[in-house]
Amino acid sequence: MDVSAHIEAVYEDIRRRNPGEGEFHQAAHEVLHAIGPVLRAHPEYSRARIVERLCEPERQLIFRVAWVDDQGTVQVNRGFRVEFNSALGPYKGGLRFHPSVNLGIVKFLGFEQIFKNALTGMAIGGGKGGADFDPKGRSDGEIMRFCQAFMTELYRHLGEHTDVPAGDIGVGGREIGYLFGQYKRITNRYEAGVLTGKPVGWGGSHARTEATGYGAVYFAQEMLATRGHDFDGRRVVVSGSGNVAVYAVEKVHALGGRVVACSDSSGYLVDEDGIDLDLLKEVKEVRRARISAYAEAKPTARFSARGSVFDVPCEIALPCATQNELTRQDAVALVKNGVLAVAEGANMPCTPEAVEVFRGARTLFGPGKAANAGGVATSALEMQQNASRDSWTFERTEDRLATIMRQVHAQCRATAETYGDDADDYVLGANTAGFLRVAEAMMAQGVV
Ligand code: NDP
Repeated sequence: MDVSAHIEAVYEDIRRRNPGEGEFHQAAHEVLHAIGPVLRAHPEYSRARIVERLCEPERQLIFRVAWVDDQGTVQVNRGFRVEFNSALGPYKGGLRFHPSVNLGIVKFLGFEQIFKNALTGMAIGGGKGGADFDPKGRSDGEIMRFCQAFMTELYRHLGEHTDVPAGDIGVGGREIGYLFGQYKRITNRYEAGVLTGKPVGWGGSHARTEATGYGAVYFAQEMLATRGHDFDGRRVVVSGSGNVAVYAVEKVHALGGRVVACSDSSGYLVDEDGIDLDLLKEVKEVRRARISAYAEAKPTARFSARGSVFDVPCEIALPCATQNELTRQDAVALVKNGVLAVAEGANMPCTPEAVEVFRGARTLFGPGKAANAGGVATSALEMQQNASRDSWTFERTEDRLATIMRQVHAQCRATAETYGDDADDYVLGANTAGFLRVAEAMMAQGVV
């Protein structure tokens, strides 16, 4: 079969066999439509059905999570873990707690994770999980009981050599702590490497909290350098105000840029003075309040519940909230305002139509599986430290992170040139380089 027809057939099969999983279809479409050239160069991959095997998770778990809230009412949620591919190492990928979580979202995230993890060059496979639990407004005790109930089912599928979750939306250091405590209680093992994103005092890695946001900024910095630009004096817009967004803001400021806007699901905030990082952290990390509380505390800032953060003029945009948050209309506004580069701190935040606009305008565009790979790469460094019962300094860990991001960037460009005709095509480069590494491992490991 000719390669294009083969890819179309695989894609149609994915849609037919995974109905209603729109985000998974979207993520698969992007990868499948980037790997044509590599499949033409390697007909053995098609004979071994590498693509068909890659698109089918090795294992998908769906389970009930029953727990009791502060009023004594029994609550029932749904938990997920998709163990997508273990060709390169134990399944690795975060847990998301958000009311929107469903199987299609977990599969899209797990699928992305395979290629992202491969790009880091480290020994980690791809997986993802979570629950349709909404942590907003829940007490600390409720969060703890939910995490314990969730882990009471999930623990049997985990292990430092099997499956190693981390955080994602709604899951930070506090939740990882409760999850780890329950894992330890049930298994009677202090297996530090079974979860990453742990607090630094008991097995966590320095720079893990900062890694995804810092890494996205390093990636953007590398992209800008190819055209002789840097962050110094640039206007930047960051969407979201969670873990990834906060540390993206921190690194942009350290590099001399000025982040003038950020957001949460209730609206966006503009502060022409530059976002005050201490205040942002106080509002989001300590008070766990809405972003509007920042504007209430600072007269130079204004909050808007309507419109899009991407309408705020900027030279660099870092979408760091959630999937499909940056639409075609946003992309048109960004290009019209002269954006130079867009790097995805979140997973798949730009819609396919938005990516087309950036491509058409030759805006530098770094897809999430490359630009936000710093988080999982530092999780792998945390696993290394746990395995050797060692703890590295912040400087040493951040230095490794910066090196990894430079390598990911260089690998994307080199692969895009080899399999296409444009080194700026980071979508082609990231997907192809990630795919190649996984495909080679799968070929070597036989039909499993
Ligand atoms: P957090 O929960 O810390 O923050 C998420 C932020 O995005 C919040 O500001 C939240 O606003 C906003 N947000 C979430 N859902 C929506 C929505 N439906 N509409 C609008 N805004 C929304 O998560 P992270 O910062 O950890 O994750 C952000 C993104 O980065 C995700 O796509 C995640 O998959 C990705 N990522 C995270 C990594 C990590 O290490 N944490 C690693 C690689 C990727 P609100 O508080 O109002 O809900």
